[in-house]
Amino acid sequence: MKVFAIIMLTLAGAVVQKQDTRLENIHGKTVLVFTPHPDDDVFGAGGTIALLNRNLNKIYIVIYTNDDKGSYDPKMTSQELARIRKAEEEVSEGLLGTPKENIIWMGYDDGMLEYAPQPKLVEEATAIIRRIRPDVLLSVDPGEWYERWHKTDHRMAAFNTIDAVRAAEFWLYFPNQRLQQGLQPYRVPETYFFYPSPQEANYYVNIDAVAELKFDAAARQVSQFEPAVSQYRSDWEPADLAKAKADMRRQQPRKDGHYVEAFRYATSFVQY
Ligand SMILES: [Zn+2]
Repeated sequence: MKVFAIIMLTLAGAVVQKQDTRLENIHGKTVLVFTPHPDDDVFGAGGTIALLNRNLNKIYIVIYTNDDKGSYDPKMTSQELARIRKAEEEVSEGLLGTPKENIIWMGYDDGMLEYAPQPKLVEEATAIIRRIRPDVLLSVDPGEWYERWHKTDHRMAAFNTIDAVRAAEFWLYFPNQRLQQGLQPYRVPETYFFYPSPQEANYYVNIDAVAELKFDAAARQVSQFEPAVSQYRSDWEPADLAKAKADMRRQQPRKDGHYVEAFRYATSFVQY
């Protein structure tokens, strides 16, 4: 298990470690992904998730909200949209190799995560971390300016997950989890945050080998693209699909001529 390595330096309470094995090369590990909505995992880290699944890692996806508001269709209901989004996400993650049994739905309403009872929210995320006990945790960052200021669920999911990472390692947070549920404290060794601001991105995964698979998977979230946002339909016109995929290819970040996914990498923060 000694894949991740030695302490390099200590700065302002943060212990920074250097990796022996790059994220995309780890094998047979447990990876836990927290995402605000059922698509940010695919848009932000879908290529990396596909590579991790190919390497026989066990991946769990935790989705904070059911994404039940983002439709302009006057005939849509929240219940129907939640059902559609769940089905789309299961297909999308399935293409990346994640079985639907490994998708954990926390079930909060879209856009309302900041108004959820925060102690309950962090307690729930803490229990998931203590139960899954991941070797690597991926989560959303508050992101760059648009995301940071206009996407409330992204802010809340980012802050809540890191608070839960801290709580998980100290058993005195939510001690009932140990005393009544048998969940032992757990220290997450590695964390990567997708949707980082460009200034804070410090880790890039080459996804050339799975880029088209990622775009296919993202396109399965049909309801999140026009024309289905304005008037729901469950499938694509071929021309619309071709345009959406062309947009994805154009927008996918590149580094040195390769498709990449960017992360902010951090590890082993001492968070007393
Ligand atoms: Zn989102």
